Amino acid sequence: MQKKIKHIFFDLDNTLWDTDRNSKITLQQMYKDVDVEEKYQLSFLDFFTSYYKRNENLWALYRQEKVTKQNILDQRFKKTFQELGVEDEEIWGYFDDNFLDKVVQNNHLIDNAEETLDYLKTKGYELHVVSNGFIQQTNRKVNDTSIKNYVTTITSGEEINKRKPAREVFELGMKKAQALPEESSFIGDDWEADVLGSKKTGMFPVFFNYKKDEKYKQNGFPIIRDLLELKNIF
Ligand SMILES: [Mg+2]
Repeated sequence: MQKKIKHIFFDLDNTLWDTDRNSKITLQQMYKDVDVEEKYQLSFLDFFTSYYKRNENLWALYRQEKVTKQNILDQRFKKTFQELGVEDEEIWGYFDDNFLDKVVQNNHLIDNAEETLDYLKTKGYELHVVSNGFIQQTNRKVNDTSIKNYVTTITSGEEINKRKPAREVFELGMKKAQALPEESSFIGDDWEADVLGSKKTGMFPVFFNYKKDEKYKQNGFPIIRDLLELKNIF
């Protein structure tokens, strides 16, 4: 139990909400809806691998404020399909128009998320979400799932057009929660944005190594591979 800590902030995507899994399921269905495989002899896996890389890269640039939200929306499907030889506006248009709405209908959470949130709330911690995701998506991912039963505040970097690791995003989260940095912990799956960012603002970071990447080593703060390990910390 961390005695000073009263508030625990969570990143949302791939920390509580299983973004990778939900995106893959959604895209697989959409791929079938418009018969891409049959029309273009392009396997879903080839498409998905290419899309995933491009999307991760665009979000990294978004964090660095080098591209806008609109750039992500305009490029991730169109450029992926073009690169794979699918010059078909109807197809990428279908993904552009429907993906954001459909993905929040697949609402798998990260393994043990609910049990962990329940444990922490029962122990008396106040729980919050701070995400780099778009406002509307962030709200839906919380309010359409059991996460809503546990968290007090929701913050999206888009509210102030800043992204973690920018300190303003953590500060906005703490302001809404009426929390001080020294009584706050931050749990997230992104080393730079979540862990180093929250550490700089004076919060106590915990790295959720959900990809189980061996390169991350203990560095003065805990590293966990399963959310349930938070029970050993708090
Ligand atoms: Mg994340």
